[in-house]
Amino acid sequence: MAVSEVQRPLDVLKSVFGFPGFRGMQGDIIDHVVKGGDCLVLMPTGGGKSLCYQVPALCRPGTAIVISPLIALMHDQVQALRQLGVRAAMLNSSLEFSEVRAVERDLLAGHLDLLYVAPERLLTDGFLSLLERIDIALFAIDEAHCVSQWGHDFRPEYRRLTVLHERFPAVPRIALTATADGPTRRDILERLALGDGRVFLSSFDRPNIRYRVSAKTSPRNQLRAFLDDHTGEAGVIYCLSRAKVEELASALSAEGRPALAYHAGLDKEVRAANQDRFLKEEGLIMVATIAFGMGIDKPDVRFVVHMDMPKSMEAYYQETGRAGRDGLKSEALMLYGMEDVAKLMQFTDASEAPEAQKRVERQKLDALIGYCETARCRRQVLLAYFEEDLAEPCGNCDTCLEPVKTFDGTEAAQKVMSAILRTGERFGAAHIIDILLGNATERMRQLNHDGLKTFGCGKEFGRDGWRSVIRQLAAMGLIQVDVEGHGGLHLGPDFRDVLKGERRIELKEDGVRARKAGSRGAA
Ligand code: ADP
Ligand code: ZN
Repeated sequence: MAVSEVQRPLDVLKSVFGFPGFRGMQGDIIDHVVKGGDCLVLMPTGGGKSLCYQVPALCRPGTAIVISPLIALMHDQVQALRQLGVRAAMLNSSLEFSEVRAVERDLLAGHLDLLYVAPERLLTDGFLSLLERIDIALFAIDEAHCVSQWGHDFRPEYRRLTVLHERFPAVPRIALTATADGPTRRDILERLALGDGRVFLSSFDRPNIRYRVSAKTSPRNQLRAFLDDHTGEAGVIYCLSRAKVEELASALSAEGRPALAYHAGLDKEVRAANQDRFLKEEGLIMVATIAFGMGIDKPDVRFVVHMDMPKSMEAYYQETGRAGRDGLKSEALMLYGMEDVAKLMQFTDASEAPEAQKRVERQKLDALIGYCETARCRRQVLLAYFEEDLAEPCGNCDTCLEPVKTFDGTEAAQKVMSAILRTGERFGAAHIIDILLGNATERMRQLNHDGLKTFGCGKEFGRDGWRSVIRQLAAMGLIQVDVEGHGGLHLGPDFRDVLKGERRIELKEDGVRARKAGSRGAA
């Protein structure tokens, strides 16, 4: 499509894309960019981010340069644009040398409306000097959260994108992302030097997704019960480890639930084939590590299950957000236990990251535990994390649908906390619970813990009950999991108030008292 004169955004939307009108903030964003303004666009997945730069690309003279880290996504977008008659191309590592040359020739000749380029390619001296010889309509920086090392998908090349601002100060830049909590958002603005640009913040609510979080007591049975409500539907099940992915995928298949596996350790061909089948066939379950999902656009994913706790609230939002892109009813289930928390702590601790970053990561984990253990509307808690205020409880999450009963758990809290204190704040949940239950194991005798005052003082609850108490106290910050990652528990800064009886502790009844009899948990 040759752009000989300046075109109006709405005309372009109608004539090129065939849509009657803009959605949400699209109109405002597009006007802003067409006029040459910089901005950061925060919009949930499926919100319609692409048009925010594609329409201005066609309204402004010159070629729009779109920076995207995902080759598959680039490819799909370019194909779709070409079908609409837009002159789009891409440059990335998947191209042959001759293809690269052809694209560069088109670019120099002014024959491209949009060029998608991978950041590492863009940042080469050769490419940057090429850009100096052409008219640039705008820079669009997709997946802008990649600039933040606090986000879940840090890409160091993104840090260097400030070069765009330095070398092409007159060209408008639009950064877009579907994930960004407050700190990440501020990081993007700073790192991309978008300081004076506007921020367009859409609601991140996905009202058609029903959120559920359950303590991991009997994960396979919990999963089966959930899947029974979703027979024949397509869904994604996330597991933390590759081994677990493969094992679960075959177990489900053996039970007659068609499931595929996906993780980074599988052959490239197998991965591609499984992904392809998941996208094309109906009613398949993809069992995957978090390697699966980025940039995958399947509208009718009906459920997302986390068999293990996700890494952060953002990761959770992003991963559950893959459900229900078509706007129809969908469900997200997360199973979690204290062991998951310990494992995530261990990852954080083992990483090479500087201390300040580790601290942020621990805070993020705390926020996630708080979400898991909340008695409030999950959607309110989730959106609050993204600094969005939902006025009323949503009516479409587990805590809204099955209101949480609470009881005075002060005494229970005191028992757990004094067992932790008396054993030197070193032992994990399993051992602490053995003390409360009075299980005189070999180890117990070796450590002389069977002589403690708290030994056997907690027979009112079962093992699962005590696990729930510990998780809830962890969510309140009264118990913390060791940063060394051995799962050892220690007490939070405010523990004295509770032990002295100066603070009343309200606990959720579910999981503590309800399942006392015969419960043996794996959580
Ligand atoms: P995002 O990148 O934010 O995940 P997309 O740009 O892929 O979202 O858009 C999601 C879907 O919504 C696409 O199928 C797109 O064609 C459609 N869409 C976006 N904006 C509009 C609009 N104004 N009118 C109709 N459909 C739209
Ligand atoms: Zn709710």
